[in-house]
Amino acid sequence: EQAGDYRILQEAALRDYLASLRDIKARLGGEPASWSITEVGDGNLNLVFIVKGASGGIAVKQALPYVRLVGESWPLPLSRAHYEYLALSRQAQLAPGLVPALLHHNETLALTAMELLEPHIIMRKGLVAATRYPRFVDDITTFMARTLFFTSDLALVAAEKKEAIAAFAGNHALCKITEDLIFTDPYRIAEQNRWTTPHLDGLAASLREDMELHVAISRLKLKFMASPEALLHGDLHTGSIMVTASETRVIDPEFAFYGPMGFDVGAVLANLLMAYFASAGHERAPGERREFETWVLETVDQVWNEFSRKFLDLWRSEAGGDAYPVSLFAGEKGAMRLEAERQAYMQRLFTDTVGFAAAKTIRRIFGLAHNIDFELIEDPRKRAMSEARAVRLARGMMVEAAAFRTIADITGSARKLR
Ligand code: ADP
Ligand code: MG
Ligand code: MG
Ligand code: MG
Repeated sequence: EQAGDYRILQEAALRDYLASLRDIKARLGGEPASWSITEVGDGNLNLVFIVKGASGGIAVKQALPYVRLVGESWPLPLSRAHYEYLALSRQAQLAPGLVPALLHHNETLALTAMELLEPHIIMRKGLVAATRYPRFVDDITTFMARTLFFTSDLALVAAEKKEAIAAFAGNHALCKITEDLIFTDPYRIAEQNRWTTPHLDGLAASLREDMELHVAISRLKLKFMASPEALLHGDLHTGSIMVTASETRVIDPEFAFYGPMGFDVGAVLANLLMAYFASAGHERAPGERREFETWVLETVDQVWNEFSRKFLDLWRSEAGGDAYPVSLFAGEKGAMRLEAERQAYMQRLFTDTVGFAAAKTIRRIFGLAHNIDFELIEDPRKRAMSEARAVRLARGMMVEAAAFRTIADITGSARKLR
């Protein structure tokens, strides 16, 4: 097929297309005319259809040549579907069972068919409803430790690593969205910014004057742009995680590229912290959500601690990369020095994570893309109160990231602000 053959597949055309694919047709079962097709895309960028037949269901995602949230005035390359497919394939190898199974990909149509996640729901919705997820810590930390470690120089030889960077380097339009919307716009006047007004007008103005913050966000932006440490998911918020009580699946890696590991880990932590700060605004009776709030902060602690433990374990047992050559760390003395260096590496990664978590928080409160954690708080006064607490912690995390030595320093500060 030619590049010019791209067309947006709405219901009828999608039905015909899927009916032409032997394996998909068999999986759905029955007559194509009887398949139900529902568009469920609630994301900002793409079309997602759920298709169900007599014997099974699938999810079909198609990229649009523009940003869905904004419209045709904001073009965005279809190639993001290629990078999403590539990332999903790699994540499936490295973290089996933690991403939806791939069923079909059409490069020309920028279309991917995958396993239907059912009865999974978007984790963010569950958090708004104060649901606790007992599998989450173990699953998300396995996902992050394995996808980040095995795509880094600690695991790959130099040539493989550089080839892998090259394979994702073309996804720069998606990186640019992050560079603008997360690392730039919330700190200046930008047409697409919004916030809870007038309550947060003063805070928004203070962010635009805060040179310490501008230095800190610019350092983080540079780190994001210039540190190809590992293959990132690139958009790892709680809206990119689907859950049940017993399962966790990471979806939507279209922002994937080689970047700094702390960006993914920080995304997870930031979104849990925002769920915590938003929780007060969803309360109908005082204390009603206390157990949930306790669980969220415990989860923040455990996500970092378990991620760190798993990552270090992989480094000790699976280091096959060109970084830290074993020949330089011979004997007992070498082993001890290398172990100390691993600890120093994790401390540096923690500092990055703290800064990126702060950036991910501020953009959700002052930038273009908000989240339902805060948006579903109907009373703007309560919403602003929750948001202001999150921003207060985030500002400190960004300008004094290294002052937070452990994750308990973060959750301790969050608890005091509640
Ligand atoms: P976008 O890139 O536009 O954000 P997503 O990949 O996040 O698109 O998908 C949008 C929505 O579609 C998700 O929030 C989820 O509700 C639904 N969805 C996506 N993939 C699946 C799947 N494999 N099974 C069930 N629902 C899905
Ligand atoms: Mg999404
Ligand atoms: Mg995001
Ligand atoms: Mg997406």
